Amino acid sequence: RIAAAGSLRQLDPKVAASRQLDLFVYGLADAEALGIASHSEALDYLQALGFKVNPERRRCANIDEVIAFVSEWHDKRPQLPYEIDGIVIKVDSFAQQRALGATAKSPRWAIAYKFPAEEVVTTLIGIEVNVGRTGVVTPTAILEPVRVAGTTVQRATLHNEDFIREKDIRIGDAVIIKKAGDIIPEVVGVVVDRRDGDETPFAMPTHCPECESELVRLEGEVALRCLNPNCPAQLRERLIHFASRAAMNIEGLGEKVVTQLFNAGLVRDVADLYCLTKEQLVGLERMGEKSAANLLAAIEASKQNSLERLLFGLGIRYVGAKAAQLLAEHFETMERLERATKEELMAVPEIGEKMADAITAFFAQPEATELLQELRAYGVNMAYKGPKRSAEAPADSAFAGKTVVLTGKLASMSRNEAKEQIERLGGRVTGSVSRSTDLVIAGEDAGSKLEKAQQLGIEIWDEPRFLQEINRGKR
Ligand SMILES: [Zn+2]
Repeated sequence: RIAAAGSLRQLDPKVAASRQLDLFVYGLADAEALGIASHSEALDYLQALGFKVNPERRRCANIDEVIAFVSEWHDKRPQLPYEIDGIVIKVDSFAQQRALGATAKSPRWAIAYKFPAEEVVTTLIGIEVNVGRTGVVTPTAILEPVRVAGTTVQRATLHNEDFIREKDIRIGDAVIIKKAGDIIPEVVGVVVDRRDGDETPFAMPTHCPECESELVRLEGEVALRCLNPNCPAQLRERLIHFASRAAMNIEGLGEKVVTQLFNAGLVRDVADLYCLTKEQLVGLERMGEKSAANLLAAIEASKQNSLERLLFGLGIRYVGAKAAQLLAEHFETMERLERATKEELMAVPEIGEKMADAITAFFAQPEATELLQELRAYGVNMAYKGPKRSAEAPADSAFAGKTVVLTGKLASMSRNEAKEQIERLGGRVTGSVSRSTDLVIAGEDAGSKLEKAQQLGIEIWDEPRFLQEINRGKR
């Protein structure tokens, strides 16, 4: 829906046309004024006028017919030339619709039936084992590519060893795959009847696939870990995390580039990023003069980040973006945080004992002290710069510290609700556009403020872009 709305609002109609949007018209406002008495008649009328109306619609006489329709489409769903996740069932008569009325959120005369997540069967070719930045080793299913809920799936998480054992998943098995929440592929189970005896049970490795250290299962944990602090897989994953959007937000330094830098021996820890040279970068695959210069500029700019980004980027155990924000606000400098005792840490709202222990343990390591000294020497900022934000504002909020102007009419919420959302995410809403405005949210019929923003070259978002950002904040 957001993709469609965004496409329609493209300023260049050629771009909008290139998206090849299509639609089924599904309702007619004020049909009764035309003497039409029911939804089905309204759709027939629209069709007669030449609008596209869904040809599969059906008027059912009773609930049994509705149930039969739903189960018919449950089976025929894959034959449709587009994806559906359910069927909308509506009361046909407008008079009855009026009598039923609506709740605050939705009409009482219409409901969406959601199909259960689509499940498909494919072959488990193998199980790959990966090491994360904290040393946790996770198994991933490598699958015979299969189409499920709109995309081709080749990999699915297997969580941990216990999961594989509980479901008795063996290499070569026919496995049932679905997408959790229609997004993340997941192995549901095994089709045991299809076994022919050639399947091999899987055992987690006893040693790290990257550094060959013995893997350990810590007490009370399901996961196996590589405890080697110099494990290449962990170092690489830590660099990726450090550069990520929610942490130091270094544009152009994604997983692929980090892996290249690491494999070329150019970086080993995060401090090494700050002494990279253009000559070193230009030698890398798909890295020209211009992208090398851009990457160096992005790395340089990251030195000015406020403390919470660095803190989150260091990857201290249990310290997520939100905790990093709270700690940065409270202690204001890295030095003060380094010196903080467990009691002082626990005095910060929402910082519990487990996290306090992890933080003191982190700073007690000589390697951590050394790393921070190096970063300081490179000029990386170690102080909190942000305004005092609300406690919920995530560190990676796009509105953090920004001055935002709302203009035009938003379809999904009132001006006040929009203001609240922006403030919740650390932004400030003002009434007029000026050079100090960072961002303009433009709804329907936006007028002079939008024009002024365009003249001043201020970033402008439409409603779908705005919704995407506030919903991201909610997850
Ligand atoms: Zn390792």
